[in-house]
Amino acid sequence: MTAGTATAEQAARGLLGRAPEVALCLDFDGTLSPVVDDPQAARPLQGIVELLGPLAERFAAVAIVSGRPAAYLGEHVAAPGVRYLGLYGLQELHEGQIQVDPRLEAARPAVSAAAAALRDSAAVRDSGAWLEDKEYSVAVHTRRVPDRDRWAEPVDRTARQIAEEHGLELIPGKLVWELRPPVPSDKGDAVRRVVAESGARAVVVVGDDLGDLPAFAAVAELAGQGHHEGLRVAVRSAEAPPQLIAGADLVLEGPQGVLDFLRLLAA
Ligand SMILES: [Mg+2]
Repeated sequence: MTAGTATAEQAARGLLGRAPEVALCLDFDGTLSPVVDDPQAARPLQGIVELLGPLAERFAAVAIVSGRPAAYLGEHVAAPGVRYLGLYGLQELHEGQIQVDPRLEAARPAVSAAAAALRDSAAVRDSGAWLEDKEYSVAVHTRRVPDRDRWAEPVDRTARQIAEEHGLELIPGKLVWELRPPVPSDKGDAVRRVVAESGARAVVVVGDDLGDLPAFAAVAELAGQGHHEGLRVAVRSAEAPPQLIAGADLVLEGPQGVLDFLRLLAA
């Protein structure tokens, strides 16, 4: 959509001119919501949620695309017309009903067994890492662990081992290790679905972490096919992966930068 790195104002101007054919795909943690020590306490930055309903009316689609369960997104980012794609697109909240990929349902016993093994492991127990039960996956968080740098390697090793034993895959993030069934889906799949189902001719993806790289790749792929245009927006934080910043067409400064950008789009 823009050559080189754009400013937020330039990008917003370009998008506003063709809003009805643009899909907006927004990550939650670190993008709409400031990263906090307790992941269950994460909430969108004040002012963001009320912009989303009007944006959903103006744009082809507004979708929250996150590794979080769709129900969490629907509860904390409640706005009319917004789509909630949780678990990297494997779950969607639609008209109050949760739709889940049946392959995830089948893997629930393995996820429960892995959660129990993690709970009993020395690395998790002794570090005080927090286990997040996400129903269809389990995540180990070390954000609140004292001396978390020292625990990174043992937690990583333990998480990898337990994932392998239970036939799960390991998705590392910023101070988090998620074990989930090897059902292929990433934010790129979710973005492709939103674009296809909304009939959008252009797509904007906004994210702050490694899990957003497949969404960036999907934007590039859609643009490469010649039928779509795309804008990859990285949200900068102290922990932002360098490859995400490097792959971005536009860089915003934290959730506050996202709020300002959404305000430009809603103006
Ligand atoms: Mg994020």
